[in-house]
Formats: sequence, structure tokens, C-alpha cells
Amino acid sequence: MNPEDTGSSGQDIGDGTRAVRAGLPEPVKYEPALPGPVFAAHYHLPGEPTGPYTYGRDENPTWSRLERAIGELEAPGEDGVETLVFASGMAAISAVLFSQVRAGDAVVMPDDGYQALPLAREQLTAYGVEVRTAPTGGDAQLGVLDGARLLWIETPSNPGLDVCDLRRLVAAAHAQGTLVAVDNTLATPLGQRPLELGADFSVASGTKMLTGHGDLLLGYVVSRDAGLMASVRRWRKIAGAIPGPMEAWLAHRSLATLHLRADRQTANALAVAEALRGRPEVTGLRHPGLPNDPSHKTAAQQMRRFGCVVSFCLPSREHADGFLDALRLVDSATSFGGVRSTAERRGRWGGDAVPEGFIRFSAGAEDPEDLVADVLHALDASAR
Ligand SMILES: *Cc1c(COP(=O)(O)O)cnc(C)c1O
Repeated sequence: MNPEDTGSSGQDIGDGTRAVRAGLPEPVKYEPALPGPVFAAHYHLPGEPTGPYTYGRDENPTWSRLERAIGELEAPGEDGVETLVFASGMAAISAVLFSQVRAGDAVVMPDDGYQALPLAREQLTAYGVEVRTAPTGGDAQLGVLDGARLLWIETPSNPGLDVCDLRRLVAAAHAQGTLVAVDNTLATPLGQRPLELGADFSVASGTKMLTGHGDLLLGYVVSRDAGLMASVRRWRKIAGAIPGPMEAWLAHRSLATLHLRADRQTANALAVAEALRGRPEVTGLRHPGLPNDPSHKTAAQQMRRFGCVVSFCLPSREHADGFLDALRLVDSATSFGGVRSTAERRGRWGGDAVPEGFIRFSAGAEDPEDLVADVLHALDASAR
């Protein structure tokens, strides 16, 4: 099979087929399917410095393969999609914000998004950018959109798991010339394809479920617009927020199991959510895949998998800490999306507007009956 074909005829193959082949080069006799990481600060470059590979802050063949792979997953079957990888999700987010926005512009952000977004907001404000915020739920960002240069969307939002109607927000933004960027971290490209829903940029942390092993940080930006991407590329060169070749290679290797991990982890999240639903001490249970969740209807119109995160509240901080201590198969850790389940009491960080007993739970790839049994056991143990 010619891997060029898997990239460009991508619409008619399944997610698993696409994931295992994404970004692979043409097969070369005696070469591995996925060539190893290229460690180079500079490349041999006699004569005129025409690309592609000149200096290591600008380009690296290991990134190029990963970028192609992510582009195939974010926009299957589309030519002309450009992807840039970054050292972390925040590096990718900053690259879009700071390359697209100037002093005097207005930006609309969610007020319930990723915990470092308020830091970006402070920095933008210091540079003379007007930042307006509104909640993700109820498409409330529409109310503050007027005349903005950029609309930043995070759906589902982290950690509250509210969802907004992407098509509706994009239509309103584009009608007045506003660019739209969507943080696709929680969903991953197998859960949601923001470019197909009309967004100008899909931006994500690859640190979470995209790579899924909790062993690297990565970020990326994808767009169809070459002009916009030229300025994002220029920002990457200026800021130098580039991934190491080893991280890029590990990330590419990890993509081959994304569909398996996403299917199992999404199913496990739903199983945990269903088990929590029957418990009297649990309130505020959220998972976009639960049929009665406030996000479900909109999520079902734009998502293909609902993600691995479940959030809920226990009655007190002590109760929540007792629950976390009693879990045996779930590591106490921040972040989410890894193959090993993790959970944390979100209020320990400050910053998120959540109750003291609020838990963010990330379902891993364990056997569902083991995971559910562990959660129920820990609830029983912490109720005593
Ligand atoms: C983790 C996260 C980020 C930041 O990613 P890093 O790789 O940690 O820099 C951005 N957005 C969301 C929704 C996240 O969960």
C-alpha cells in the first residue's frame, strides 16, 4: 500500500487504519516504517540556503512526519492542511494568540478553560489587547463577540466539561470577520475535527490523550490557511518553543494506538460515570457521553468520541481526599488522558472556580470492571 494514498484518500478509511499509518513516509527497502528521531542542531548546507532542513529551530524531519500525521487525523483526506508542532500545548496556544493579535484588538476567551489561559490573558492585556471572557456553556461567548479579532473556544471545557455549539459560534464569528481557534485537547482529533466544523485553527496539547502515556509534553496547531500558518511558523521561530526530536518521535509512535486508547478510555469514562450516577454522595456529575448530561445533545452533533474525563463532586474536601486515598488502580496526579487512570481534587490548585470536593477523573485503559469496582470500593471506604 502506498502511504501517500492513505493520507489523501483518508475519508473512506476508518480511524484505526488512519492512525496506524498516519504520517509514515514511502516505504524504503531496509529502512524502518517509522524512521528514528533525527538529532540535529544544523544540517549540511553548502551553497545557497534553500530548505527544507537548514537549522534545527526551524525544521526537523522527525517533526515533519509527526506534523503530517496529526494533519491527516485532524483533517482526513484534505490537501493543503498545514500542521506545526510545539514544545507543549501552551507553546501552541501562545503561538496562535501572540501571532494573530495586535495591540488594540479584542480577543474572546472562555472563563472556564484551561488553568493557564488566565496567564495568557494577563500577558495579552499587558500588550494592549482587550480580552473579553464568557462561559463555554450556553454558547455564551456569542454575547461578547462583537468586533473581536479572535474567538478562542475550548470544548469540552476543562475541567467543567461544558460544550458549546461549534458550528453556531463559527458562523457568527465568520459573519463579522472574526478568526476562530478551538482547543481540541480533551476530544483529540478522533473525538472532534474543528476544521471540518469551520474553525480556522485547531490547537491542542499533545501531552494528554493524543500521546497518552504521560511521558512527554507536546503541542500543535493545524490550519488550512497558509497565510495564517506563515505567521504561526514565524512565531515558533521567534519563541523557539520547539519539541525535542525524541519527544516528537515518541508522540508519532504513540499515535498508532490512539484509536485503541480513545475507544477504551472513552468507554471506561462512560462506565465510571454510569457507576457514579447511582451514588447519593455524588453531585454535579458531568460527562458529555452521558445521555442526560447538559452537554450531551450538542456534543453528539459535533463529537465522535466523548473523551476520557469525568468530573463530579463529593460532599467535602475530606471526603474527596479520602476517596482519592482509597483508590488502588487510579493514581493521584494532575493532567489527564493517560493509559493509567488518574484523579485529583481540582480545588487544591486554586484558580478553577470549583467546589472543594470537586474531582477530575481521567479514565485509563484498564479493564472496565476492575476500574468500576475500584471506584465503588473507594467511595464506600471514604463514606465511612
Ligand atoms: C493541558 C492542557 C493545555 C496545556 O498543555 P501543556 O501541554 O500542558 O502545555 C491546554 N489546553 C488544555 C485543554 C489542556 O488540558
